[in-house]
Amino acid sequence: MLSATDTRLLRLPKAELHVHLDGSLRPSTLLELASERGVALPARDAAALADRMVVRDAADLEEYLEPFRLTLAVLQDATAIERIAFELAEDHAREHVRWLEVRFCPGLCTSGELTAAEVLDAALAGLSRARGVHGIESAVIVTALRSRSSSDSIEMAELAVAYRARGVCAFDLAGAEAGHPVHDHLAAVRTARDGGLAITIHAGEAYGPESIREALELGGATRIGHGTSLGEDPALLARIRDAGVLLEVCLTSNVQTRAASSYATHPLRRYYDEGIRVSLCTDNRLMSGVTLTDEYAHARDALGFTWAELVDVARTGFVGAFAPSEVKRALVQRFDADVEGS
Ligand SMILES: [Zn+2]
Repeated sequence: MLSATDTRLLRLPKAELHVHLDGSLRPSTLLELASERGVALPARDAAALADRMVVRDAADLEEYLEPFRLTLAVLQDATAIERIAFELAEDHAREHVRWLEVRFCPGLCTSGELTAAEVLDAALAGLSRARGVHGIESAVIVTALRSRSSSDSIEMAELAVAYRARGVCAFDLAGAEAGHPVHDHLAAVRTARDGGLAITIHAGEAYGPESIREALELGGATRIGHGTSLGEDPALLARIRDAGVLLEVCLTSNVQTRAASSYATHPLRRYYDEGIRVSLCTDNRLMSGVTLTDEYAHARDALGFTWAELVDVARTGFVGAFAPSEVKRALVQRFDADVEGS
């Protein structure tokens, strides 16, 4: 049962800017879809499966990404993709998330009959259904993987641009940073940017601040996924702060991938105190075994964030959203009105 203070965190209106579709299935849905599709799983009931899918002590980011093979095995048909997107938005709506940006790589869901465009259609249909049922506003960030070829990332960027007016808000690069610099995917990033999309890039998660610098200078990112290693370069930190670049901070995921040694030593506290724009995010609800409310509770309990600071972080999530300007304005106004009245 939630404590009174956790209930207050649950009810705080929130924006989720960094959550992967393929890392955030409900365990019960993964079981059901896998059984219907003949996919073997490491457990037979939802509780045991949830436990098995959480990566608690990964040697590194690569090991953390291993269980995605299982979730991607059930993300190959429109029925499953629509359902998973709907449920993800529904779970967020229950946590009082009012703006949700879901990211994934459609190119990883084309082992069955679907084209990448049909994959995106199915995810958008699920989000649209959730909007109708729960009133939660949302958009998709199309992700390309650093470890794949530049032609793959260009294909994802072109797809993202084609869907700019149909629910895609941004383009992202994810996956192993070592040996896979932004430089290798410049054409894709430029395609997305020239096509009017916002750019966020996973950087400084499993690599040093030079990766963040590259995302900023070469990639033109206005948000950084993680950015955990930023503090190693004080000049870059000052630059990120002055440019108003937002860090999408995922505390639990960072501890699990060893990007941070513990919650208590996570640099979020320092970044916030130094005036960096930060938003709390889950990364992967299934593989990290967290909700967005949990992440706010970790910031409070391990890093001493006060209620006023948590409200400020939540507001930054709305201000930093890649939402259309009129939607964003309405979300921020509603947030201010509700928090003031609470
Ligand atoms: Zn991520």
